[in-house]
This record gives sequence, C-alpha cells and structure tokens, in this order.
Amino acid sequence: RHSPTKTMIDGHELASKLYHHVLTLTEEGAGGREYAKSRKFTKEQLEHFQIGFAPNRWDSLKIILDKRGFSLEMMAKAGLLGIRESDNGYYDRFRNRLMFPIWDNQGKVIAFGGRSIGSDKPKYLNSAETPIFHKSNTLYALHLARPYIRKENAAILFEGYVDVVAAWGAGITNGVATLGTSLTQEQAKVLRRNAENVTICYDSDRAGVDAAFRSATILEEAGCHVKIAQMPEGLDPDDFIREFGAERFKTDVIGASLSLMAFKMRFLRKGRNLQDEGERLRYIEEVLREISSLKRAVERDHYLRQLADEFSLSLEALKQEQFQLYRAKK
Ligand code: ATP
Ligand code: MN
Ligand code: MN
Ligand code: MN
Repeated sequence: RHSPTKTMIDGHELASKLYHHVLTLTEEGAGGREYAKSRKFTKEQLEHFQIGFAPNRWDSLKIILDKRGFSLEMMAKAGLLGIRESDNGYYDRFRNRLMFPIWDNQGKVIAFGGRSIGSDKPKYLNSAETPIFHKSNTLYALHLARPYIRKENAAILFEGYVDVVAAWGAGITNGVATLGTSLTQEQAKVLRRNAENVTICYDSDRAGVDAAFRSATILEEAGCHVKIAQMPEGLDPDDFIREFGAERFKTDVIGASLSLMAFKMRFLRKGRNLQDEGERLRYIEEVLREISSLKRAVERDHYLRQLADEFSLSLEALKQEQFQLYRAKK
C-alpha cells in the first residue's frame, strides 16, 4: 500500500504516541513517571519533546503494531522489534525505558533513544541505522529548535538528549544534540545551513573537553563561528541547571562561553604555575603554535597582541619567536 520507508515512519509515529500515552496516562507508566519526576522533567518538557515510556513487557508495541496491520518483519527492519532466535518470533526492542523520539527534518519520528530507568544496560539504547534513520546527518530536536536557531543565527550543541530538554526548561530554545556519536561533517553542514554561530556545551569531563575540540574543528571547517561553554568539572548541562538554576546557566555558562582560542589558552594553562619562568615560556610557546595554526590573519594578530599584553612582551619579539617555531617545524 505504501512505500517501505513510509510504513517504517508510520510505525515510529504510532510507537511514539503509544509510549507517550503510557507515560502520561496509564498505570503501566508509573515507573516511568517516577523516573521522570526524579529527573525533574516538567509536564511542559514531557509534552514538548513527546517523551514516553516503553513498558516493562515483551509485547506491548508488538501487539499494537500487529493489530494495526503492520508487517512485523518490516517493523523489525525499522528497529522497533527484535527477532527471537529460538522461534523467530518478534518482541519489543525497547522495554522499561524512558523514550526520547528522534525526528527527521519534517518532524516525523524516525528513531528513539531509550534511557534505562533502572540498572538495565546499556544506559541508553539508541535505534540502529535503518532505511529511515541515518545517525550521521540527524541532530536531536533540530526540527523543534530550527526556528529559534534561524532567528538567533545561533545554535547550541549538547552531548545528551536530557541536556537539550533541561536547557529548553531553562529557556534555551535553540539547543540540539548529536546521537551518542561524535559530530560529523554532515551534521556540521546542517547546522551551518541554519546559523553562523554554534556554541558547544558538552559535559565538563575529560571526554567532553576532547570531544569539544574535535567538534570545534569540524564546525569551523564547515564555516561556523564556534564558541565553547564551560562548566565546573564533572557536571553536564542538566546537572548544572538542577544545581544552580536557569539564570546562572544562561549567564555563567552560555553567556560566558569562550572563543575556541581562548578555550585552548585556558586549557593549556591548567595545572601550570605561570609564575615559574620555565613554565611560562613553555606556555607562551604552545600558545604561539596555536596562534600560528589560525587561518585568518586578523585573528592571528588579535591573539598575538593579547598574548603580548598579558605577559608584557613586545609584539616584535613574539612575531620573531613565531617565525623561529615555524622554521623549526619545516
Ligand atoms: P543521563 O543524564 O541520563 O545520565 P547523559 O546525557 O548525561 O545522560 P552521557 O553519559 O553524558 O549521558 O552521554 C551523552 C549521550 O551519549 C547520551 O545522551 C546518549 O545519546 C549517548 N550515550 C550515553 N551512554 C550511552 C550508551 N551506553 N550507549 C549508547 N549511547 C549512549
Ligand atoms: Mn558525557
Ligand atoms: Mn552527560
Ligand atoms: Mn546527564
């Protein structure tokens, strides 16, 4: 009757409605509601992001898909059902998880991220690649954020679904996230098509900082102006908002985000005693290397001046030093 992809999307739309209904209105959703409450999700957040709950059963979705005449084989290909090895029967792939629908650009559900509400592993079960879901060019919540991204000419890039949801609760409406993978060139191009500015707001742990550097490079290559937001060590945006509130998130985190170079300088400074002459010189050398790698001359000049001011050095001496470094590399 319809094309396979249309049918796969219809299956996801139905699943999304079922999961949201279960979470908000049924007895079976009690565990999910309790978990959502523990995460401080408001009713508005649950509605806006159509968050749902997959019951702790093997056949909730399967029975409904079957009743509505969907080919279970196709729903397995779409990633909603699994196939049992013992008897080739079908079962619900997502069970006992808080469900985050993932949409395409038109706002159709094409995949899910499922957060375990207990000790079940993995913590997040994400849909695999399917004919309707391509992780590398999809961004979580883009269709909801796009009008705001365009209006503000800026997007905020998070690591997790929950961070996007928490930021929205704090009044940040232009947030999107990657889908448990590192940012791809395609995703960067999608962002660039909608805005010139992107602020990276990843978790404040070692993995988050490393990923922020990688994403920043990819975004710059795509032509974006990049800033990086910082939070106290060990927190992610959701943690920060719960601990310190929306206002401080907006002013102290998003509002205080740094240019990539300033972020690098702060990173190189960490754990270093700049009172010590040797360490200071090494720091200056490393910053000079970073400055040399900048593409635009005005930017190089800007940061050279800043470095000169900060350490009371002459611009001439810094340029000379930079030239030496450059020759040494050759
Ligand atoms: P939570 O606050 O619910 O613990 P989080 O968003 O802080 O979630 P992180 O561990 O920071 O979780 O991971 C960020 C993102 O990476 C998640 O939103 C998810 O998309 C993905 N992710 C995390 N853990 C896994 C996992 N075990 N398997 C697949 N993807 C994962
Ligand atoms: Mn993380
Ligand atoms: Mn996190
Ligand atoms: Mn988190």
